[in-house]
Amino acid sequence: MSHYTKSPLMGQMMNQPLLISSIIEHADRYFGDNEIVSRRVEGDLHRTNYRECHARSRQLANALQSLGVKMGDRVATLAWNGYRHLEAYYAVSGSGAVLHTINPRLTPEHIAYIANHAEDQYLLFDLTFLPLVEAFAAHCNTIRGYILMCDPDRMPASSKIPHLMCYETLIAQHQADYCWPLFDENSAATLCYTSGTTGNPKGALYSHRSTVLHSYASAMPDALCVSGRDTVLPVVPMFHVNAWGLPYSVPLTGAKMVFPGPALDGKSLYELFESEQVTFSAGVPTVWLGLLTYVGQNKLTFSSFKRTVIGGSACPPSMMQTLRHQYGIDVVHAWGMTEMSPLGTACTLQSKHGALSEQDQQAILETQGHVIYGVDMKIVDDAGKALPWDGKTYGNLLVKGPWVISSYFKNEGGEVLQDGWFPTGDVATISADGYMRITDRSKDVIKSGGEWIGTIDLENIAMAHPAVLQAACIGIAHPKWDERPLLIVVKKPGMDVSKAELLEFYQGKIAKWWMPDDVVFADALPIGATGKILKNKIREQFKDYTLPSA
Ligand code: ADP
Repeated sequence: MSHYTKSPLMGQMMNQPLLISSIIEHADRYFGDNEIVSRRVEGDLHRTNYRECHARSRQLANALQSLGVKMGDRVATLAWNGYRHLEAYYAVSGSGAVLHTINPRLTPEHIAYIANHAEDQYLLFDLTFLPLVEAFAAHCNTIRGYILMCDPDRMPASSKIPHLMCYETLIAQHQADYCWPLFDENSAATLCYTSGTTGNPKGALYSHRSTVLHSYASAMPDALCVSGRDTVLPVVPMFHVNAWGLPYSVPLTGAKMVFPGPALDGKSLYELFESEQVTFSAGVPTVWLGLLTYVGQNKLTFSSFKRTVIGGSACPPSMMQTLRHQYGIDVVHAWGMTEMSPLGTACTLQSKHGALSEQDQQAILETQGHVIYGVDMKIVDDAGKALPWDGKTYGNLLVKGPWVISSYFKNEGGEVLQDGWFPTGDVATISADGYMRITDRSKDVIKSGGEWIGTIDLENIAMAHPAVLQAACIGIAHPKWDERPLLIVVKKPGMDVSKAELLEFYQGKIAKWWMPDDVVFADALPIGATGKILKNKIREQFKDYTLPSA
């Protein structure tokens, strides 16, 4: 770091590198008996604890070493949230190799592309993905062996996959006598590709230092607020941005961990929340939609679930209110992205907000919140000029911090920073006291008559209508205004609403010129690999659509 001034008097504290292995060592030593419960692909519930997790991680580290995996080598996973995946998290990164988590919802071609780009050496995968691996293995140029994460009796009798090994057989051949190596904390630890909705996916290469700092910061009370008294169920997948860091922040605090495996439907999740007495969870809005629909239809309540973090896309205020008022679950609205490890902001109130009316407090809680110490943000215009923090002026959101990307893996896309800041591609406002509100992704903004219409606001209003399950708003070309909003709506099962009623519902809630020009009802909206509505797909679907006003 040559551009920093060196002081003539340096501190005299231990210069201990921040390494991921130290988290599982700590969890074993201080919370060894605390449980890790996993719903397995086989359907049963598996129980282990941090002591066993640490031992098995070291067995796996020994096994990988015997297979020739060296520091810096990439080892990929294609797996659900589960105890074996957690062991891989620690074994691979802890030994100095790089864990590359692959999203199984991508197409076989897409997966082969990123596995080749990452130059993965081995792939560990869940039984569910056997057919998927069979579909792309022949196209992977660098993978030397495939490790199926199952018991020996589950191994297929024959398979097209070359060099196929059984995880349990492999680690049984190795002792837990592995010593985690010490190395530079800036070494690469994990690799995660962005979903690449435009162009080829690009890799965010996290370091041990960025991961450990993010784990500390994200566990804080005004962020995810993970404590040793929690039982945490990460719905957010370990194959997307490291499940928002929970595989690190939960063992760091010693909280009980509950993994849902492949069963992410409302019924399975509800049963697991209740049987394991989960107190805290995290996920994207579409997951909560499924859970709330199930719980609502069956008139159920939660006996232990107290708090959830929702992010990944804007949490509709109606969902927040249902969780809070109907089920007593506090929602923390959070924002981040793959390039930010992912956490940037989380929304909680401060003491000074205590005097505000419930409605004003709610308005703050609906924003994406405050940065977590470590991250800094600003909004700028297209020329890069900083814009005021008045809660109204919107601009391009830029961030910086020790767990924010500085360049993509293999320098894909070239220089990405603007004067040391990372452009997020989001458009936001920031209030005078630092609460950030995303109004849109810059590529989703509707440009009407030279002004911008934020699609998130229009979608949130539609979602507040009792008959609306999901809504998406896109810009449609218009001869006079450039673009005008078209609203696409999925109705709740068994409920009805007309176009006129929906448009009437907008009256008084938005400026007149923001009113959608038309409403189309659909059976479903396209959802991408990370559980988000795919606006680019919808735009493609409606590219020839003519608005009635055109
Ligand atoms: P990808 O970029 O691969 O689609 P990410 O998970 O990295 O996946 O997506 C990050 C983007 O998701 C952010 O830039 C933002 O547009 C959106 N996002 C994340 N959290 C929120 C939120 N709470 N509200 C609105 N948008 C969000």
